Amino acid sequence: MPHAPHPILGRDQWWNSTRTTELHPLRLERPRTLADLERVVNEARALELRVRAVGRGHSSSDAPFTEDVLVDTARLDRIAAYPAARTPGPYVEVEAGVRVRDLNTALDRMGLSIRAMGGYNGQSVVGAILTGTHGSSMDYGALSRMVRSLVLVVADGPTAHAIRIEPSAGFSDPARLPANGPLLLQDDEAFHSAVVSMGALGLVHSMVLEAEPTYFLKEVRRVSDWTRTKEELRNGLLDRYSGVFVQINPYEAPGRETTLVMTHERVAAIDRARRLREDVRFGIGWLNNAMRNPLLLLAGHFRFTYRLLVWRLNRHPDRIGRLLRSAIRGQRDKGYTQTAHRVLYQGAAHLKLRAYDTENALPLRPAPGGEHYLDVVDGLLDMLRELHARHGFHLSSPVGLRFVRRSAHWLTPEHERDVCYVDAPVLRDAYGNSNCVGRVQQYLKKHGAIPHWGKRNEVFDHAHIRRCYPRFDAWARQRDRFDPERRFANAFTERLLGP
Ligand SMILES: Cc1cc2nc3c(=O)[nH]c(=O)nc-3n(C[C@H](O)[C@H](O)[C@H](O)COP(=O)(O)OP(=O)(O)OC[C@H]3O[C@@H](n4cnc5c(N)ncnc54)[C@H](O)[C@@H]3O)c2cc1C
Repeated sequence: MPHAPHPILGRDQWWNSTRTTELHPLRLERPRTLADLERVVNEARALELRVRAVGRGHSSSDAPFTEDVLVDTARLDRIAAYPAARTPGPYVEVEAGVRVRDLNTALDRMGLSIRAMGGYNGQSVVGAILTGTHGSSMDYGALSRMVRSLVLVVADGPTAHAIRIEPSAGFSDPARLPANGPLLLQDDEAFHSAVVSMGALGLVHSMVLEAEPTYFLKEVRRVSDWTRTKEELRNGLLDRYSGVFVQINPYEAPGRETTLVMTHERVAAIDRARRLREDVRFGIGWLNNAMRNPLLLLAGHFRFTYRLLVWRLNRHPDRIGRLLRSAIRGQRDKGYTQTAHRVLYQGAAHLKLRAYDTENALPLRPAPGGEHYLDVVDGLLDMLRELHARHGFHLSSPVGLRFVRRSAHWLTPEHERDVCYVDAPVLRDAYGNSNCVGRVQQYLKKHGAIPHWGKRNEVFDHAHIRRCYPRFDAWARQRDRFDPERRFANAFTERLLGP
């Protein structure tokens, strides 16, 4: 639960999913309907307060924070087929509080599948899309590419009201929309501004997503070293699979770092019996690996084992190289085939909820005279090794590389360029966690990386964001159009998006 009344005072409080921040907003609202959302914004305007919505509080950046009016969207939880599209689809409409895992369950029942997701499924679909959440997919891209239409409550006139925003080509048939529903706005500029907008244009009530008939993926995880993996990446590895994910242990000799290379490819459907066999085989492999490193397995599940892991790493920073090598080797497998969302879900959720990260994107193809992303990653590995050797500071997990196909949305890091996201995670109780994550950000910022909106990004500023996004000024005009009085601003938007 992201919020609950204080056990003694009975007053509202809210905290993010990793429990690194607790907020006591002036008002905590839990709307159930679109009319509730409009009322919340109108009341906030009357009281001259600012408003932020929150999905499931999984952002480790300060994107959702406010101490004015915080709108918890969990009760906006409906999922339905969308009947007003001009083309056959399949399309589903999800309200703002629906989690990725709820959507997957509903789609499964309809014989459908999500087209893209990250490695986790506890976020709200809307919150994830608004911050540009992605997996590792060069053939499809990030979650935001699924959006065809969205309903946004804006504060652009005397009273707050809802609009349905879609591409100019027109997605919905106006004749099939309810006469008293939100105003229909078919306008590319508004659409490409709103889909990834971190809540800065208004409160999203719902989104229409394009799904697809159930499909299957085969995942293979193999162990290699960084020199060979780099060669493979330079020689077309990304073209051979629908998704590639790489983990690198920075705390080994340069060039010899252990890497995990995980690949996804689409395969033909398998029957129920084979699916069961795949699950059993996967389970046995997982148990086998877990037996070799039980502390890593148990650390996420029990407070005591988590504390023990943290204590060992904080007391003996020299052991991190060995631990990460063993964590990488432990993931090796002979392949796993299942429905797409079960393969895309990467597990380790209990440990991830005790950690946070900074994740920043580098264009796959450098601008003329620019650096190649693999050289920037090499520099990062050197920097991390030096930080460890000199000061005993280290990340708690391997460095992750995920690859995402370009998108037309204006404020998503992969806007009009394929990117490699570089992920640097730390346990929230690891010694020097914030210091490490700050230094990684400083290094990547110097090399022009584009920060993930939902991950730690406090080192980045408005000037940097403007340099990263060629359509930023056009986006800012849409912000002036929908939120001229900055009702939906907070410290995060002021720092990164400007006043
Ligand atoms: C365990 C874990 C795993 C993760 N895995 C991945 C991953 O694989 N890939 C990846 O890219 N990211 C990943 N993330 C980051 C995460 O996907 C994003 O931070 C996402 O935004 C979180 O979704 P949420 O529902 O918790 O949104 P929140 O953090 O609650 O909100 C995100 C932003 O959206 C705004 N917002 C939310 N709902 C609304 C609304 N209805 N109207 C207006 N504004 C709204 C908030 O104000 C905020 O700015 C992970 C995070 C965690 C904790």
